[in-house]
Amino acid sequence: MSRVPLRKALADLPAYVPGARVPVGAAAYKLSSNENPYPPLPSVVAAIVDAAADVNRYPDMFATELTATIAERLGVAHGSVVAGCGSVAVLGHVLTAVCEAGDEVVLPWRSFEAYPIAVDLAHARGVRVPVTAEGRLDLPAMADAVTKRTKVVLVCTPNNPTGPAVRDGELRDFLARVPNDVLVVLDEAYVEFVRDPQAPDALALFAEHPNVVVLRTFSKAYGLAGLRVGYAVARPRLAAGIRAASTPFGVSHVAQLAALASLRAEGELLARVDALVAERTRMLDALRGQGWQVPDSQANFVWLPLGDRTTAFAERCTRAGVVVRPFAGDGARVSVGEKEATDLFLEVAAEHVPR
Ligand SMILES: *Cc1c(COP(=O)(O)O)cnc(C)c1O
Repeated sequence: MSRVPLRKALADLPAYVPGARVPVGAAAYKLSSNENPYPPLPSVVAAIVDAAADVNRYPDMFATELTATIAERLGVAHGSVVAGCGSVAVLGHVLTAVCEAGDEVVLPWRSFEAYPIAVDLAHARGVRVPVTAEGRLDLPAMADAVTKRTKVVLVCTPNNPTGPAVRDGELRDFLARVPNDVLVVLDEAYVEFVRDPQAPDALALFAEHPNVVVLRTFSKAYGLAGLRVGYAVARPRLAAGIRAASTPFGVSHVAQLAALASLRAEGELLARVDALVAERTRMLDALRGQGWQVPDSQANFVWLPLGDRTTAFAERCTRAGVVVRPFAGDGARVSVGEKEATDLFLEVAAEHVPR
């Protein structure tokens, strides 16, 4: 038995529950982690294989070529892009870079389950603001929750796990109300899947508001979840702070070259995103046709507000060969995946329509 005391905060930390894994070779579809169902493109695999020959060396610490390429594509200063080991890690670095012990971080809830963990680990205090009955962020209430102790506000758009994106007008009103020394993090992990014409242009807002940071990732639309690469776009002074708080050499050489290859193959990858968006529409239409009231989704998943029946529904899905992500007592999140998986899921959903 070790006598070394652990930080007290760890005992209270909510556990991150990963989407259930499907054993290799098992006859089940995994719709529990918002992964991209398509395997990597041959050109991306080739870049990964090439990069493997150099793994005796440390990677480029600042992912210089990758961050410069992203900066050019987004039209921001080179120093504004900070890469990390998934945007979850980048979020942790953002919080470590700005939060003093006891500072408040306002976040929507229910939202991304990594948020409360990252906030607690950064010695900050999370202030949760409930999403609306439609699964939308309540931005006016989030602005009301900002106090003198608030350092950061997390805006998850589209919101994981409920699905809607915030609207440009409401986000502009929100930014006008938040003091300019409070950081507003726009977490756009699913931005490539957004089709709502009222959704904001985060980079335009970044250009207008020096306190805005945008988070994006290669895990979802680009299908590189297993390689762990995401990034923040921040004003150079903030970006330097985030870099200073980052794990050295956090993004592997393999991940850097795979991300660059993915940017070169962007057309092919975004065509896959279009197909997934069409499949999302098919899922939402079918669910509504069955009588479900589901929130709009602008991401690669749908949300079923099942309340107390969530766990039983998820178990029934598993027996039918599709693994979904239950949030006990609240609802189930179902990723957009293979068409066959959608069909199996819709059969189970048809049996569970709330009356
Ligand atoms: C998936 C996801 C991320 C990014 O995950 P990484 O794989 O760490 O890049 C960030 N935010 C939200 C809301 C997500 O759902």
